[in-house]
Amino acid sequence: LLKIDHLKKSFNKKTILEDVNLEINKGDVIAVIGPSGSGKTTFLKNINLLEHPDSGTLSIEDKKLDLSHVSTQDELWLRRHIAMVFQNYALFKNKTAFENITTGLIYGKHLDKKEAAKIAEEELKQVNMLDKKDFYPSQLSGGQQQRIGIARATALKPSVILFDEPTSALDPELVGTVVDDIDQLAKNGQTMIVVTHLISFAKRIANKVIFFEDGEILSAGTPEEIIDNPKNDRIKKFLEAVS
Ligand code: ATP
Repeated sequence: LLKIDHLKKSFNKKTILEDVNLEINKGDVIAVIGPSGSGKTTFLKNINLLEHPDSGTLSIEDKKLDLSHVSTQDELWLRRHIAMVFQNYALFKNKTAFENITTGLIYGKHLDKKEAAKIAEEELKQVNMLDKKDFYPSQLSGGQQQRIGIARATALKPSVILFDEPTSALDPELVGTVVDDIDQLAKNGQTMIVVTHLISFAKRIANKVIFFEDGEILSAGTPEEIIDNPKNDRIKKFLEAVS
């Protein structure tokens, strides 16, 4: 479904992503773990072109893009197929929960208002937020805002959803609801890449775990291989430190 080859990114001559390669099948849920500063967020941002890679290729559906030269048109196309849910929710503050979802459908996918409204209501129902549809982000808790962020991404029916530490800004008692929503998406077969520091969450949702270090995938495998029985000493140490 999605193939990334030789992705490289540096800032001010400092290499942040060093030749990252990843192949994802439909329905895969990939958990990305690894130390702070290893490049996990940068990796996601370079996949959906919020940042521009120095080089690399990305193949999705029947399109192959050279990531060092992507036209504006291809960039918009890509973002319709690869949606991102942010750590700090990144909702439009001056729009209601409902409008946060319909905006992308009307302006990005060119649906008419009625179609967009129908999808927004379905998505709000899915995350149990229909009764909050006319609330502004400031009137919602962090967990509720994150659920709107998830509904906004799924409304676009993207091939892949990228989650950047979706629970890290939440109060501990709110983490569970967002984790449940993401787990439900996984069960529905949504392909996802999830950066997380919650190892138990990674284990629960992912069928493949990748461990990032110094801008590279140090190791990739099933949760059993990477989390339960890590062979690599570096991963063992990391897991001991975070557990
Ligand atoms: P964390 O788990 O703490 O969120 P991470 O693995 O997601 O970390 P990144 O946020 O991808 O790490 O950052 C990787 C490195 O890239 C860091 O050293 C960071 O300082 C650097 N970096 C990220 N964005 C920029 C930028 N826009 N300009 C310069 N350096 C950057």
